[in-house]
Amino acid sequence: MQAVLKDSGLKITTQRCKLLEFLTQVDEQHFTVENIYQGLNARGEAIGLNSVYRIMTHFERAGLVVRRLFESESAVYELNNKPRHDHLLCLTCGKLIDFIDPLIELRLGLAAEHHGMSIHHHSLNMYGYCFNCQHALDKKSDKQKT
Ligand SMILES: [Zn+2]
Ligand SMILES: [Zn+2]
Repeated sequence: MQAVLKDSGLKITTQRCKLLEFLTQVDEQHFTVENIYQGLNARGEAIGLNSVYRIMTHFERAGLVVRRLFESESAVYELNNKPRHDHLLCLTCGKLIDFIDPLIELRLGLAAEHHGMSIHHHSLNMYGYCFNCQHALDKKSDKQKT
């Protein structure tokens, strides 16, 4: 952890190490500040919500994490060590799924080229209902029919 912090030009503090450790150890890929705060405190790390906010802002500036904004959601962070990808978001449970589609990448590149633009980055988010939530919705509407 310390080497990662050092490489990114950040000063090494215990809290930063603990936070980065948490982000790399947990199965979850996307985090809100609240998720991190609750997760750390559940592990017995006494860290304030404001400290998490501050550290995540530093991490973002240092390029360790990427900040994503979705409709009506608080900002979501993810580690900046994944290939470029797009997102699917469930409107009911908030589940966030990463996907990569080379064909979409290609089409976006062509569209930009067509308009004479060189692309720095793009964000593509799709909103819908995950399998489980769709299933629950179907059940509910079935009940209402009978
Ligand atoms: Zn869902
Ligand atoms: Zn992602």
